[in-house]
Amino acid sequence: MATMQGVVLPGNSTVEFKEFPVPEPGHGQVLVKMKASSICGSDIRAIYREHLGKGPEAYQGVIAGHEPCGQIVTVGPGCKQFAAGDRVVLYHISGCGVCEDCKHGYMISCKGAQRAAYGWQRDGGHAAFLLAEENTCVALPDNLSYVDGAFCACGFGTSWEALTRMQVGGADRLLVTGLGPVGLAAAMLGKALGVHTVIGTDISEGRLALAKTLGVVDHVLDAGDDPLTKIKDLTGGVGCEVSIDCSAAPSARLLALKGTRQWGRCAFVGEGNKVEFDVSGDLIHPQITLYGSWVTSLKHLQDLLERLSLWGLHPESTSRADVFLPLEKAAEAYDLADKGQTGKVCIVFDD
Ligand SMILES: [Zn+2]
Ligand SMILES: [Zn+2]
Repeated sequence: MATMQGVVLPGNSTVEFKEFPVPEPGHGQVLVKMKASSICGSDIRAIYREHLGKGPEAYQGVIAGHEPCGQIVTVGPGCKQFAAGDRVVLYHISGCGVCEDCKHGYMISCKGAQRAAYGWQRDGGHAAFLLAEENTCVALPDNLSYVDGAFCACGFGTSWEALTRMQVGGADRLLVTGLGPVGLAAAMLGKALGVHTVIGTDISEGRLALAKTLGVVDHVLDAGDDPLTKIKDLTGGVGCEVSIDCSAAPSARLLALKGTRQWGRCAFVGEGNKVEFDVSGDLIHPQITLYGSWVTSLKHLQDLLERLSLWGLHPESTSRADVFLPLEKAAEAYDLADKGQTGKVCIVFDD
């Protein structure tokens, strides 16, 4: 039987390689040759450093990588849409298919016992091949790269979902707190949706420098240096019509709320941690609509890929090309992702 090397994460900030059989697709399944498989902040927070997850975030010792993108090499019986040779992005959770959330394409929120995320409860993208359910595959447009596709599987999808749910557009200025990969995605997509001005904040020097270099954030602010006053100064004293926290830091969540204009909208997508705020002063009296938004739906991932293709926008440009590393360098890749200074880190595969 053919075998392959897969990366597993023991939970002590190391990676391990294990030998796995190359899987054979069953009914309704496809075998995807991996081309790009990026690393998400959740992989670092809930798996790599230590196994913190419970329920949908409980890691089961499988091949890691929940942002997979590749090319189908074999289809199992009963497949209806895809064929060998098709380029696909994986919506990274397979759901029960029959619950309310699954019917809406939000398999992320599936409560069924069958729910399994690639890289968490079933094998993910950090190996040469991935066994996938056909109904979790979304076509990757020809003018997008495999790395572009991987970046959309979780990170860009998460930003897209929150921005479109808040109906962000040309009448808005956008505040992004946290300029990691998800924050940079929010900035890039906000601009593409017509946002007039993007203001971004972070405490990390590397992230601030990268955001400045990329040019997707109009005003890059050091969160340690009185950012609220600067946000007010940049917006005629009123704040941004829309804000999104991509950091999960309590102070940044609060800054997102306080930096939102009266009657504005604010979304929290950064995972974990807590926040305490003055409900009357910071939320009720300023008439702010606060959104919690978790990943995206299958259809909205497809919408995102279509729009990126139309706009000729490349998510991979929000990262540094020197952090796209081969599978053998997975340990280095996770270490870089943990340090969080480079934009999204991605495992890439030859041919
Ligand atoms: Zn993720
Ligand atoms: Zn379900």
